[in-house]
Amino acid sequence: MTILKKDKRKRKHHWPASLVSSFLLVITNMILTEENWTVQSYIELFVDGCPTHLRPTMCPHCQAEVMLHKHGSFKRTVYTLLEAFIISIFRFKCNKCGKSTSLLPDFVMEHHQVAWEVKEEVIHQQLAGVALVKIAEDLVTSAGKFSEKTVWRWSKAIRDELRESSSELWPVILERLPHIEIPVGPSKPAREWAWLFRAWEQVRSMIPGYGNLGLLAWLYHNKHSQAVAYG
Ligand SMILES: [Zn+2]
Repeated sequence: MTILKKDKRKRKHHWPASLVSSFLLVITNMILTEENWTVQSYIELFVDGCPTHLRPTMCPHCQAEVMLHKHGSFKRTVYTLLEAFIISIFRFKCNKCGKSTSLLPDFVMEHHQVAWEVKEEVIHQQLAGVALVKIAEDLVTSAGKFSEKTVWRWSKAIRDELRESSSELWPVILERLPHIEIPVGPSKPAREWAWLFRAWEQVRSMIPGYGNLGLLAWLYHNKHSQAVAYG
């Protein structure tokens, strides 16, 4: 695995890249582990292939509880705010049903190349009142700039996602911060989201292993675990 481009420029972010590029491992529709790693630690950990203790022990297709067989790997580029990485994604095959699956780190969405931290930066700026056209103009990532249309598409998808997921997030926050000040008055979605992002920053510091976990990555993880729980 190689680091495609290293850019050590000091730039201002609400969430530093080093804090946000953390993730859980997700196999299609299945969470493998609840450990949090950075992109760098993923690369180090998987440098000689998938470690035995992280090999999937359940097939997401037929639900058989078997150790899946190694089935090669492919390369994938991941763009974070400051660096672009080429990582290996490992594949596994189930002996029972013959279907294969990939072991995906969830710092990016399945089939996407842009890391959550980039999208999270867009949302933070938007919540701070910056117009999308300005965000698109100023946001320089390891993949270069993105058009206003792309940034708008991310924002819309994430807001839709948050609308669905915020009800799951509230109990997690209130359990750990029972005395937190809750926004009252007419419900304004933008206000609720800003509140959720702020509260999450406090909550993640209280959950062991969640110190680096961005809200969007957590919601993504949560959605996948539910798919397992109810699948
Ligand atoms: Zn299977």
